[in-house]
Parts: sequence; C-alpha cells; structure tokens
Amino acid sequence: MTETRRQTAFAGLDQPPAWPATRGRPRPQRLEASLDTLPGVGATLKRKLASLGIATVRDLLEHVPRRYESAAEEIPIAGLGGDEEVVIVGEVLNVSKRPLRGRRTLVTARVTDGTATIGATWFNQPWIADQLKPGMRVRLRGKTGRYGFDVKSYDLGDARATADFAPVYPAAEEIAAKTVRRVVEAALPHVSDYPDPLPAELRAREAMPLKRDALAVVHRPQTEDEAETGRKRLAFDELLMLQIAIAPRAAEREQTLAPSLGEAGELIVRYRTSLPFALTPYQEQAIREIDADLTRTVPMQRLLQGDVGSGKTVVALYALLRAVENGRQGALMAPTETLAEQHFLTISDLCFELGVSCGLLTNSTPKRERSAALGSDVVVGTHALIQEGVELRDLAVAVVDEQHRFGVEQRKALAAGRGPHVLHMTATPIPRTLALTIYGDLAVSEIAKPPASRKPIVTSHIGEERASEAYTRLTRLLREGRQAYVVCPLIEESETSRARAAEAEAERLQRAELREFRVGCVHGRQKAAERRATMAKFKAGELDVLVATTVIEVGVDVPNATVMIVQEADRFGLAQLHQLRGRVGRGAEQSFCVLVSRPTEELTESAQKRLDALVATTDGFELAEVDLDLRSTGQLLGTRQSGMSDLRFADLRGDRALLERARAEAGSLVTQPGPWQDEVDALVAGTDPSALA
Ligand code: ADP
Ligand code: MG
Repeated sequence: MTETRRQTAFAGLDQPPAWPATRGRPRPQRLEASLDTLPGVGATLKRKLASLGIATVRDLLEHVPRRYESAAEEIPIAGLGGDEEVVIVGEVLNVSKRPLRGRRTLVTARVTDGTATIGATWFNQPWIADQLKPGMRVRLRGKTGRYGFDVKSYDLGDARATADFAPVYPAAEEIAAKTVRRVVEAALPHVSDYPDPLPAELRAREAMPLKRDALAVVHRPQTEDEAETGRKRLAFDELLMLQIAIAPRAAEREQTLAPSLGEAGELIVRYRTSLPFALTPYQEQAIREIDADLTRTVPMQRLLQGDVGSGKTVVALYALLRAVENGRQGALMAPTETLAEQHFLTISDLCFELGVSCGLLTNSTPKRERSAALGSDVVVGTHALIQEGVELRDLAVAVVDEQHRFGVEQRKALAAGRGPHVLHMTATPIPRTLALTIYGDLAVSEIAKPPASRKPIVTSHIGEERASEAYTRLTRLLREGRQAYVVCPLIEESETSRARAAEAEAERLQRAELREFRVGCVHGRQKAAERRATMAKFKAGELDVLVATTVIEVGVDVPNATVMIVQEADRFGLAQLHQLRGRVGRGAEQSFCVLVSRPTEELTESAQKRLDALVATTDGFELAEVDLDLRSTGQLLGTRQSGMSDLRFADLRGDRALLERARAEAGSLVTQPGPWQDEVDALVAGTDPSALA
C-alpha cells in the first residue's frame, strides 16, 4: 500500500495516546461508551445491535466485515446470463415467498429495468419479503442461478452501498447492511482512542500497523491488500493473546505432582501378547511418547489424535495398564453413558484375560455396585466418575475420550488436586497447529493411519429418489450374513422427537424393506439397560439391523456390521458423517456406506461438497481440512467447546503462519508485565481459565 493511500484512509485520526506504565487502568472510556452516544443511533437501533452482541463503541469497531465486495459490472437485465457476478438496478414489481424442502425458504421479487424482467431470489432470508415493496428501487448484486437471479448482496431504496470494496458485515436479520455500515462510519473516529497493546519493537519486527490503523482500514479499505493488512494485525493480536493466556497454565502444571511410573513390565508384556495383532508404527510411537510422559512427575497432558478405527483404544488401554502395573488405578471417561458402556464392553474382556479388574460407573450404576466399581483397577465411566463424593482410591492415569465434548467443569474436577496423568483422545483429527492452539499446552500424539489390514470403506452418495437401490443392496449383504446400521435423519427439535422418529422408522423398515430380517432400534431416550441390551443383541448377531440416531456415533465396535445407510445425509456435518461411517469397516470384510440425500439438484453447494469429500476419501485428516474450508472459523469443531470465545479476526485455516509467529512472540511477552496483559484479561474474561488447560 502506498503512502498516499494510507493518508487517505487514516485521515482525521490523531496520534494514539501513550500507554501508561501501570496495569489495571480503566480502558479508554469513549470506547466503552454506549452506542446511543453515536450520532444517528436511537433506542430501536441500539436494541437491534444489542441482539448482535454489540453494546459499546468498542464492540462495534471490532465487528469486522466478513468480506468485501469487489467491483462488479452493472448491466441491463436483458443482458443477464453470464457466469460473472454483476449488478442490476431496477424496480420491484411484486414479491412472493415460498418454502422449499428441508425448512428452506425462497423469496422471489420480480424486478424490471425496462429492458427485461427477472425474478430475483433470496434463499433462507424470509425477512427480506417484508422489506421489499412494489415500486421500490433496488440495486442487486449476484448472478444467474437455478431459480432466477441469485442475489448475493443488495441495496434497497436509493442507497448505493454495493460499492467496490464495500464491507459486507455478518448478516443480521433486522438490520440493513447499509445501516450497519453507517453506524460503523459514525464510530470510526473513535479508533484514535485505541491504545496499542504491543511493544513498538515487536510491532516493527513483525511489520504490523498500529492497532487503530488496522481497525480503520478493516472498516474502510481502499484496496483489498489494505484490508488484509489490517485484519492480519487484529488476528495477530488475537492469536498472541490466546497463546499468552494459555502459557500460565503450563507453568502451573509444572508445579503439580503426579506419580512417576516405572518402566513397562510383565503386565504390559502379557497385554501385548494377548492382542491378536501387532501394533502399527503409529501406535508404537504414541506409546513411546506416553511412556516418556509417565516416568515424569509432571502430570501428562497429552492429546491422542486418530481417526475412528485407527486403534486409539488399544493405546489408551496401554496407558491404563501402566497405572495398574504400578499398583494404581486407571480411569477411562467418556462423555455419554452409551460410550462408556461401549468402552466397558471392549475393555473388560481384555482386562479379564489379563486378570485385571474392571468396573463401570455411570449415573445408572446401582448404589450397591458403585463401591466395587470404584475399587477396580480400571474404572470406566462418565463424568459420574469425578462427581463429588466419588473417590478413586489411587488414580494415576486418566483417559478422557472425545475431550472436546467434555465440559470445562468436568475437566477442572478431574485435575483438581490429584494431578493424575491425563490422556485426551479425540477421533476428530485436526491439523497439528490448530490442535496446539485450541488445546493449548497439550502435547499431541497422532495415529495418522489405520492398521493396514483394514479395507477402506466404499462410500456412495445417492439422491433419495434412488433410495430403494440402497435397500436392495443392503438386503443382499444381509442375506450373506452381514449386519447393518440405518442412521435416522438429524431432526433438530429434540432428543424425544428424534427417538420417536427412529422408532417409527425401525417399525416401518421391519414391515417393508427389511421384513425378512431382525430389526432393533437404539436412541438417546431409552433406559441405559434397554439400550445396552439391544446393543449386546446386535453385537451377538441376534439382530441384523440396528436403526439408530446419532447415539451410535462413537464407540460402537461390531466388526460384522459392514453396511451403513445414512438417511438425509445432507443434514449432517462432515465430521459427524465421518464419525458415523467409522462404525463400519472395523473387520476384515469389505464395508459399505451409502449416503442418501435429498434429490441431488436440490443440494446446497456445501452439502454437495461434504458428500463428495466423503465419497472421495476415508482419511480423517484430509476430511478435517475440507471441513475447515467449508466452515467458518467460529464453528470449527473444538473451539466452541474448548470454552474459548470464538476467534473473531483470525482464520485458522489461512493464518497458520501468523499463528506460528504469534506463538514465537508470546514466549517473550509471558514473562514480563505489559499492556498486552489487559487484552489477555479481556480475552479470558467470561471464559473459565481452566478451559485453556
Ligand atoms: P479407535 O478407538 O481409534 O476408533 P479402536 O482402538 O477401537 O479404534 O480400533 C478399531 C479396531 O481395530 C478394533 O477392533 C481393534 O481391535 C482393531 N485394531 C487396533 N489396532 C490394530 C492393529 N494394530 N492391527 C489390526 N487391528 C487393530
Ligand atoms: Mg474406539
């Protein structure tokens, strides 16, 4: 960016106030001022902005555009039809609204500019229908789509805001885009109140603009480069503060004592020989890393990442047995009862063979059985395990499955005062740098590839109009003695309506397509005992088909189940479908997964991409990358659950290099007090700090 441009963009901004030497000074008042101190903001608008989480001038300034409009040619409606995004200007003739499948809506406005008339369309923005009025002049940007002119952004009335580089703010139902732009404009002079939290030499080293300049250009860029430079600065701060916030946790941990476990011995030798297979090099590597941690007196905090079916459980049990071998206890904790029960089924058999006692403790465990369970060498359970009053006599190693689903409170309780070695397992692999950011100071072990004996699951995708083909194929495989899962649609309402739908579907299939087979049903509304009995019957081969809600997502291990049909697969997320699919392909037989969706021509672009990706690969790490591309950062699996507020400026997909730089710089800032500490405090405020561990 050139000097002249900078001057235009930053015109009217004074020098920033010098940062005071002491901490804890109130943040600059004008930034914390209520929005109605801005010209043109009244009570109604204030309320609407509040619904976006914007209450102060600072909130508004930090409400950054999602993207920028670049130049698009304005053309007559008669000239439409190309592939490029264009702008049309015309008058609304009439407006209609109709529902599409899957709870989507389509709003259509007939628009004319004298050369021709076209139906301009808005998907899933039903409120637009009330804003569009016959006779209204509109400026629409978009391109020709399936139902007409597919509108990407718009101005209603005479405003001309779909300008080049116009910032596009996150969609808000009740506030017109141009209103957001106007209010932000009014707030912009206040950026001069922004102190800069970074030391000048760091800013120089990283070639970062001042924070206030960054905010100004993000809202009012002259070029795309300029906007990006500004955003990078904001993202850098965010990532840096995140790293600093995490650091003290690491230091704290260094001061907690955990039992140092001796070398692997006789029990481990017997464990290894009892396994019907050799461990893969990845499993061996993970075990070496765990062993190194266990000999230390600093509690292990390790994340074991591996795709579904990659063999994490075998490694987890290894860690638990290392505790037992040293005369102590191991505990395995799962986020749901179903999962805990599944783990128990798998692990108790192996433990029995080794002469190691194994107990299950969930909220449904009867009182009289609890103390026996708690006294076992290996205890499997839900968070009931760490509830008050429950005392594990001598816990040395805890394995936490699917840690991102584990609440902050639970994790805190687990660590409280006991300092066991902790191994977190997740079957939702994410790239290593991201893992480091999201899980903070966890060390990471990866099982990058499943055992070679495994045949990749053959996945196909068909529209529901061809669903009968899926059942024909299913019937053939069932006759050969295979078993199958049918996963019911992900309806949003409630666990109860999901349960009812699953039961109805099981009954329907039993009467129709699957009448010659034995069909069972599991869902989250069943009593634990009932669900367990059904699962056990399926595992024993007494049921051919299990109709299920997503309760079977993780943990079910039935090698003879080689077919899965997922109904309305387009409603599921990529990671979730991948998890579900992992229930098959666990034995030596070839497995199949059929994803049934709404008719393919009605699929949204991202649903189509998700389904394509699943058909193309079974590699969880690869899918995680695709998933990242399709999601916005805030939805990134794990960030929300980790208790961290969503990242607003950083894009974990594109900003990995920036993240590395922030990590490097964080190291030196942690040890000295400075103005950045206020930002760290602000970041952590409202967030339970233990979420960072
Ligand atoms: P994860 O917990 O990662 O989903 P599991 O540990 O449950 O995976 O392993 C999935 C299946 O693969 C299990 O049936 C397990 O016995 C088997 N398995 C694990 N490790 C190996 C290996 N090294 N070779 C062959 N099969 C394995
Ligand atoms: Mg497993």
